[in-house]
Amino acid sequence: MTQPTDNAAKGPSSHREAALSSYLQPEGEHAAPGELAPLTCRFAPSPTGRMHAGNIFASLASWLLARKTGGKVVLRIEDLDRDRSKDCFIDQVARDYEALGLDWDEGPYFQRNRDAAYQEAFAKLEDTGLVYPCFCTRADLHAASAPHAGQSSVYAGTCRNLTADERAAKAAEAERAGRLGPSYRLAVPPSGNAEGAFATDDVFQGPCRFDLGSDSGDFVVRRSDLAFAYQLAVVVDDAKHGVTCVVRGIDLVESVPRQMYLQRLLGFSHPLYAHVPLLVAEDGRRLAKRNRDAGFDALLEEHKTPEGVLGYIAGVTGLKDDFEPASAQELLEGFDVARCRARWQGKISITWPSAR
Ligand SMILES: [Zn+2]
Repeated sequence: MTQPTDNAAKGPSSHREAALSSYLQPEGEHAAPGELAPLTCRFAPSPTGRMHAGNIFASLASWLLARKTGGKVVLRIEDLDRDRSKDCFIDQVARDYEALGLDWDEGPYFQRNRDAAYQEAFAKLEDTGLVYPCFCTRADLHAASAPHAGQSSVYAGTCRNLTADERAAKAAEAERAGRLGPSYRLAVPPSGNAEGAFATDDVFQGPCRFDLGSDSGDFVVRRSDLAFAYQLAVVVDDAKHGVTCVVRGIDLVESVPRQMYLQRLLGFSHPLYAHVPLLVAEDGRRLAKRNRDAGFDALLEEHKTPEGVLGYIAGVTGLKDDFEPASAQELLEGFDVARCRARWQGKISITWPSAR
């Protein structure tokens, strides 16, 4: 069995680490979280493959937080991307989850059935006057923005103030070129504006601060193929399902201000956020299907039982101090939010030790 190496902040991930760590507030370091009320967390897999160490870790953290606080777990299948979602993986992912001794209380819910709800939310956003059509092609977007390395690009606002005539001309031009219709963007407050400033007390990361104008700029809520954007869908679903704590990998921390802005405009309350460090391969890239030794089958083969897999992941991530097999229930008994916060706060990645 291989032992984990120390957190390696090098390679292709270092720009990304710098970008992500800019949201975290070092002055909050190691402050203990307050007492947590019962939390409704979600297990929200995209049915595009089997589970691997990275999403097992995030799912485990979510389950532990729900169970420790006496809350519940909602299962939601995030099959918004119908081309990539495969029915065979819906059952498979649920089976993997159950095999690990994790369970859910509500669902499964499917995003594919929710277009009417997303449409209603989109109409509500249009009523605010903040939604506008964006005719930019991929090439236009690339030319107009100057993204920092590793950070998602900020939209330059090119289409925000087009006149009705200009919009009509752009639409005609797109049609002549055989392109899809426009996407729809939501205007955000300018950089530095108090309306676009958001703060969270992240369960694992402590205080985080965001500025929507400089972090994201105007963002897409409906795509040019008319599909609703992921950010809009999850905000509507979290409200519908009563999710009060969103647990996920820290690579998604940058979507917090967009989601909080949508929650405000749609009249939803803000959930708590709990971001766990990313598991990355030794080359610094996040674990994915290409890291075969981190896939569910390979983990089970190496560690023999689901308890072996959970115990090893718990050891690598600091959920416990050894690598011995442990059931989900045993991990729950030893789960301490304050200790996780002390270990994970400000930590962007944990290197997954590859089998040799
Ligand atoms: Zn545009």
